[in-house]
Amino acid sequence: MSMGVESFVGWLRDVAGAMHENAGYLTELDSAIGDADHGANMDRGFQAVVAVLDESSFGSADELLKKAGMTLVSKVGGASGPLYGTFFLRFGTALAGVDPITPEAIGTALHAGVEGVLARGKAELGDKTMYDAWAPALDAYDAAVAGGADLGAALTAAAEAAAKGRDGTVPMVARKGRASYLGERSVGHQDPGATSSTLIVESAARTLR
Ligand code: ADP
Ligand code: MG
Ligand code: MG
Repeated sequence: MSMGVESFVGWLRDVAGAMHENAGYLTELDSAIGDADHGANMDRGFQAVVAVLDESSFGSADELLKKAGMTLVSKVGGASGPLYGTFFLRFGTALAGVDPITPEAIGTALHAGVEGVLARGKAELGDKTMYDAWAPALDAYDAAVAGGADLGAALTAAAEAAAKGRDGTVPMVARKGRASYLGERSVGHQDPGATSSTLIVESAARTLR
């Protein structure tokens, strides 16, 4: 069975639900090492994406995901809007003209999205950012696909790795974004963006088939 636009619509709607449910939690994490707006930022951004889904239909996955990315860039301020916007823009662009969309193609798109995050944010592993969830998620995804896993199994492996990466941000000293202003005082707190990124991968594991 080939993945259609509806799979990605389902993913984005599910992410919006997860961000809405976890808005208070994400903002609480951001209040410890940032400016207490990450939950509101993510919720506002993905509600805007849902509004777009409600009023438009899309002929292809790349068109849909690029629109989602542009919506996030325009509706979410701060660091996370451009970073997640770029993620979905690049993810969508990587799927342009790709048919069928295989687990390998999703892997290529995930890598393209994360490379976009790095191009914009210049984070390195261990900087206590969303990249510390994405990097292990990509590694786990690639290993699962190389081992013959189907999309659902590969995304489940990626989600488990993202959660471990997220938990691994707790002892880190922040070196990027607002949390870096705290220096050593950022130690002992979980990174909000690594937390929201894990929600996105967990949602993909639930919805993308
Ligand atoms: P702001 O810090 O502008 O208020 P948010 O609170 O929405 O934006 O997002 C903060 C999150 O963005 C951080 O927890 C971190 O994961 C992520 N982040 C910040 N700067 C960078 C960067 N340069 N590269 C990758 N991720 C980053
Ligand atoms: Mg913030
Ligand atoms: Mg802010």
